[in-house]
Amino acid sequence: MAEKPVTILYVEDNFENRILVRRVLESEGYQMFEAGTANKAFEQIEKNLPDLILMDINMPDMDGYTLTAKIKENPAYRNIPIIAVTANVMRGDKERSLEAGCDGYIQKPIDIDILTEQIERYRKKAHS
Ligand code: MN
Repeated sequence: MAEKPVTILYVEDNFENRILVRRVLESEGYQMFEAGTANKAFEQIEKNLPDLILMDINMPDMDGYTLTAKIKENPAYRNIPIIAVTANVMRGDKERSLEAGCDGYIQKPIDIDILTEQIERYRKKAHS
């Protein structure tokens, strides 16, 4: 019998990024959920309780820091690892994402050759 797939919610307003990451991660056996806005992200979390969240920082309705802090406020969701996806590592986004409660960060543009490895590293960290 097949193992239950690991579920990932990718919060990202850019359609091309969503297509790319979905393709890569589905081919690795992950089950993907997506949200293009913060509101949609809350809906998805409630409905699907993902094992991990990939969080774009620049979003139209609410930035990824604020959204992460809101998710982490809820005891039911606090243990879901959240990985910030940010292009702005030079502007202190790494520090800000960790302050907001992110469990780690991935730099944009996403390197698809190491994405799975990064995800697995943060999953293991969250469960240790
Ligand atoms: Mn964005």
